[in-house]
Amino acid sequence: MLQQTQVKTVIPFFNKFLKVFPDLKKLSKAKLEKVYKLWQGLGYYSRAKNLLNTAKIVESKYKGILPADFETLKSFPGIGDYTASAIMAIAFDKDFIGIDGNVERFVARLFGFKNNKNNFKNSIFIKLKEIKSENNFSQFAQALMEMGALICTPQNPRCVICPVKKNCISFKKKDFNYKIYNKKRVNIKKYYLLYASEKNKILFFNKKNKLLQDFANLPLLDYKKNLFDMNFKKNSFQFEGEPKIIEKNFTHNISNIKMIIKIVLFKRIKKINDNKFYWINYNKIDNSLLSSFSKKFIELIKTKKIKYV
Ligand code: SF4
Repeated sequence: MLQQTQVKTVIPFFNKFLKVFPDLKKLSKAKLEKVYKLWQGLGYYSRAKNLLNTAKIVESKYKGILPADFETLKSFPGIGDYTASAIMAIAFDKDFIGIDGNVERFVARLFGFKNNKNNFKNSIFIKLKEIKSENNFSQFAQALMEMGALICTPQNPRCVICPVKKNCISFKKKDFNYKIYNKKRVNIKKYYLLYASEKNKILFFNKKNKLLQDFANLPLLDYKKNLFDMNFKKNSFQFEGEPKIIEKNFTHNISNIKMIIKIVLFKRIKKINDNKFYWINYNKIDNSLLSSFSKKFIELIKTKKIKYV
């Protein structure tokens, strides 16, 4: 849950999740829809799917006990070097260190490294090996993470109460900047959202997309295509009048993609010919598993920022 998400956001989701699935056994028997439902609002749903699949594997192949082996952990869905290292250190008290953004920043500042060299990550790793404890690996790993998260914070590090300030090069130099080397590029993609509603129903679309196929999606079209000359117009559904583009855009971010979405309003839909299009009753929308951009749009309607028609 904490991947790409802040602790304060995660806490209520985590507590609710543990109430429903207090152990791996219960989780392994769950339906994906139920796990998604509890995940709704956190985004990055592939994490939920991976967690469920990992629980199933652990239950069926390892008698419900998480194996204390780095390579085996890495073979599970969604577990890479960092997560496997963190589990080995924190859960099994083994000699591993998970280097997340917080740990990286803390160590970089402590030793005065700048994140502008190819060997930056390696330098952090070497320094960590030098200073790591000889035992209590779990405590050490957690202490490093907490130092980064609570003391050596990205903005205004709390040097006054920092236990290592006497040894800290950044503190001595009063230079706390360390450049982000691997900043992800944001890709901007533009879409049309086809907004059609009728008798308290809203039109949805069944997407054959690995990421979105488990969710109810409002129909989206690539912005590049000519809206008024689309095949869907002839084949998918018939409607009255011309579609109208609403002035207001909305944006939505998924991973490193920024979606800019223009809303296209349809008057009455006369006939649906393509069974990928279907209606959801407006009153039942809260019980549906909506994709994150669809949920955002429905919120705009509910809060009357976009008029429900
Ligand atoms: S003294 Fe300040 S900059 Fe240095 S490690 Fe502590 S909090 Fe970070």
